[in-house]
Amino acid sequence: MAHVTDYIRTIPDFPHEGIQFRDVTTLFADRDGLRLAIEGLVAACEGLEIDTVAGLEARGFILGGALADRLGTGFVPIRKKGKLPGRTIEQAYTLEYGEAVVEMHDDALHAGQKVLLVDDLLATGGTAEAGLRLIERLGAEVVVCAFVIDLKDLGGRARLEGLGQRVEALCA
Ligand code: IMP
Repeated sequence: MAHVTDYIRTIPDFPHEGIQFRDVTTLFADRDGLRLAIEGLVAACEGLEIDTVAGLEARGFILGGALADRLGTGFVPIRKKGKLPGRTIEQAYTLEYGEAVVEMHDDALHAGQKVLLVDDLLATGGTAEAGLRLIERLGAEVVVCAFVIDLKDLGGRARLEGLGQRVEALCA
């Protein structure tokens, strides 16, 4: 029986020497792989009340659009600074080297909405935490943070669970 890991490749020394980059473009490119990923994430969220899906740029958009369609919800993008045309709120977070900023439209969610937050990969959890903060600042609630890959050694799950979040991932 095929598993999502069968479709994910590792590229050594990208984007820097010593980094083993987990490349999900091969998962997305294969119709069986993509279906396995989406069906796995839908199954992981079964029973949860979800009003909308929020995806982290950029691979979270691909997963998030497909998930929203399956769940019968809309989709909201969380983008890198400077890409959204309307009025935004922003959240800075720390990267290995330096800082990054993500944004959402300030009217993208309304108070009380239950949100599935999705990205391809969880590492330190900094990106997901920044997305979570934006969603909460709009008065909405993240009911689950969902990923294809959880790089367990990097502490992202513990970080998000420490914030009271439910974390789902299809593989390590
Ligand atoms: P974190 O903020 O440290 O959890 O890093 C997760 C973010 O970096 C996500 O948006 C991922 O898409 C991206 N990322 C980090 N490492 C990889 C990788 O090996 N493959 C794909 N994306 C990665």
